[in-house]
Order: sequence, then structure tokens, then C-alpha cells
Amino acid sequence: MSAVLTVEHLSRSFGAIKAVDDVSFSLEQGELLALIGPNGAGKSTCFNMLMGQLKPTGGVVKLNGEKITGLLPRQIWRKGVGRTFQITATYSSMTVVENVQMSLISHHRRIYSMLPYAHKLYRTRALELLDTVGMADQADRHCAVLAYGDLKRLELAVALAHEPKLLLMDEPTAGMAPRERIALMQLTADIVRDQGVSCLFTEHDMDVVFAHAHRIMVLNRGQLIADGSVEEIRNNPQVQEVYLGG
Ligand code: ADP
Ligand code: MG
Repeated sequence: MSAVLTVEHLSRSFGAIKAVDDVSFSLEQGELLALIGPNGAGKSTCFNMLMGQLKPTGGVVKLNGEKITGLLPRQIWRKGVGRTFQITATYSSMTVVENVQMSLISHHRRIYSMLPYAHKLYRTRALELLDTVGMADQADRHCAVLAYGDLKRLELAVALAHEPKLLLMDEPTAGMAPRERIALMQLTADIVRDQGVSCLFTEHDMDVVFAHAHRIMVLNRGQLIADGSVEEIRNNPQVQEVYLGG
């Protein structure tokens, strides 16, 4: 197996706080990996460094063996690191399908405003992607009227338009009802399985994590304290202590 993502000794301090402290791990193709840990553990700091939005104090991040530390967010995104946003990033004045078309147009480096036939461009592909996330029937609705859970599914379609090798999702189900959380993670698991992408995600609902993750890493005070299968993490006394004591 070859690693899609390799993280070596990644660290980031804020003054005296070591938000991420010497974290190393790798992620294989087709793997759905959960990063869990109490509030303030350093999960978002870790994600922000992987996406190029925050400079590490130390360490290296590699995508398919190529160093990406120090690149700008859009350069990392161009290399195939997709993300869904904790705050919804869709354009609310456009329809559902237009949002996905915009993403496809940008992926193929076309310039939207110069194309008189832009409304037709990539529409078929956009509808396919909407079908993947179960939203084809809502293609022509305006985003402004969508339910929150549907917006989240749309975000996933928008991210998939860029054919990512790796999907980074920091709390994708934040603000969702339990049933919607389970549905979104099930959808993500299906996409990982069917499309061979890899995914790193955070989620605070342990039932959702245990149901879907292939592997789980636990971060506490910036340090990785465990990395293993669902069973290993579930039965790890140190992990139980962090959560029960937390
Ligand atoms: P998590 O996502 O696991 O809840 P964060 O990565 O957001 O944790 O935060 C980890 C630690 O780093 C916390 O102590 C937080 O207060 C601190 N931190 C995060 N971002 C900043 C920042 N921009 N400036 C100062 N401290 C920060
Ligand atoms: Mg966070």
C-alpha cells in the first residue's frame, strides 16, 4: 500500500501553547481516518496546517511522497486535497447544480464570466455528482432554501468536482441532528469506498466515529496518544481516561 498523506513531526505553537506537538502519521489510499480528541486538543490546528492555512512551527507534510509544507492553500487544493468547510461555502444566490458547475469550471480552469453558454457547461457531470450525494432531485433549487443537511451534501459534491485524492473534513456534521450526522458519514464512507479517495475527518459523536471510521487517531493536548482500529481505540484505557476525565 502507498501512503497518500504522510505527516512527519508536525508541530505548531501559539506562544507557550503547543497546539500540535510532534504529530506523525500516514493515510493510505481508500482509508477513512478519524482524528478525535477533546476540545482544544489541536485537531483544527492540524487540519489548518494540512490545508496550508497555517504555517507549521516544525515538521513536514507530504502528498503522495511530495512535500507540500509551505505551499499556499490553493496550490495544495490544486494538487488534489479537497476540503469541506466547517462553515458552509456554497453560493446562496445560485442553484444547487450551478454551484457544482462553478466548481467544475474552476477545476478545468475555465473562466465563467467569459462563457455565454456557461449555464450549460458541465451540467451533465454536475448532475452526476449531485446524484452521487443524493441531491439530483434538488438540482434546480436555490441554495438559499436548502435544509442544512442538504447544504452539507452539496458541499461534498462541490469538493468532489475537483477530483480530490484526499478529502479533509473538520467537523463536517457540526450543527446537524443525529440522524443527519449518521447519513452524512454513511455517504462519506460510500464515496471513499466507491471512488478510492482517502478521507481524514473529525467528529465528536463517538457512535458515528465507531460506526464508520476504518482507523482512529486520538489527539490530546497536541499529542497523538493512540492510533489504531475501532476496537483498539474503544478498549484503550488511556483514551477512556481522556474522555471520561475530560
Ligand atoms: P480543537 O480543534 O481540537 O478543538 P484547536 O486546534 O482549535 O483544537 O486548538 C488547539 C489549541 O490551540 C487550543 O489551546 C487553542 O486555544 C489554541 N489555538 C488555536 N488557534 C489559535 C490561535 N490562532 N491563536 C492562539 N491559540 C490558538
Ligand atoms: Mg476544532
